[in-house]
Amino acid sequence: MKNGGSNPPAPGNRCAGPPGGLSCRPGGFVFYYARMLLPLAATAAALGAWAYGTYEPNSPLFGRAIGRGSRAKRVAYLTFDDGPNPGATEPILETLAAHRVPAAFFMVGEHVRRFPAVARRVAAEGHEIGNHTLRHRKLHFLGPSRIREELERTHELIVDATARDPRSFRAPHGYRNPFVAPAARRLAYTVFGWTFGVWDSDPRVGAEEIRARVRRKLKPGAIVLLHDGDGYDPTGDRRRTAAALAGIIEDARAAGYEFRPLGELMP
Ligand SMILES: [Zn+2]
Repeated sequence: MKNGGSNPPAPGNRCAGPPGGLSCRPGGFVFYYARMLLPLAATAAALGAWAYGTYEPNSPLFGRAIGRGSRAKRVAYLTFDDGPNPGATEPILETLAAHRVPAAFFMVGEHVRRFPAVARRVAAEGHEIGNHTLRHRKLHFLGPSRIREELERTHELIVDATARDPRSFRAPHGYRNPFVAPAARRLAYTVFGWTFGVWDSDPRVGAEEIRARVRRKLKPGAIVLLHDGDGYDPTGDRRRTAAALAGIIEDARAAGYEFRPLGELMP
């Protein structure tokens, strides 16, 4: 029987050529397994690309997301997710005002509905306000209409509370799929990822550790991810982040950094 089909070759028919050589006859053992493995490798590559687009917050695969500013200058951008949340957002605003530092707040719609006065104060103090979905849903398994609803309802809640149109969006956990970019585009949003986070939402991480982690990770153009709220618990305790903030600002300035408004990265 000819051995060009899908039957494995006879064991005696492996590689011809000199001992230790790599040449194998077509239809030989190595070719047979290569033909079997190539489609598997292609599938794994496709899954890998999909995972990259979904879970990597700055991946361009499912639409551009800005994850860092210019690396040429010692500038950095503070961003706070998952608020508004009176217990943390208010003291954070006080620290930002005392140090004259701008920041961006990516807000959860349901929390804006609950604490509209806090959202209004963020806007009144001149900080950037971004959309972070209605209920902090992980978007990667949702279809286009659900994603649009998450973004558009939140947009309305923010406009109602602050009289300001949000101009930016950040996906919860950074998880996206191909339907996120069109929903963001409908609202003329710039989509943001981040350069680094410091796991400040972990209750085992204290304020001094949050401060030290930011100091160690800070680099030119960094978009720093912090949390003034909890995506699911509207009164989640983020006082440790609030307590860390003054030290974060002092350390960064001592290292020659300037905090800039995130809006300057928008096209
Ligand atoms: Zn979040």
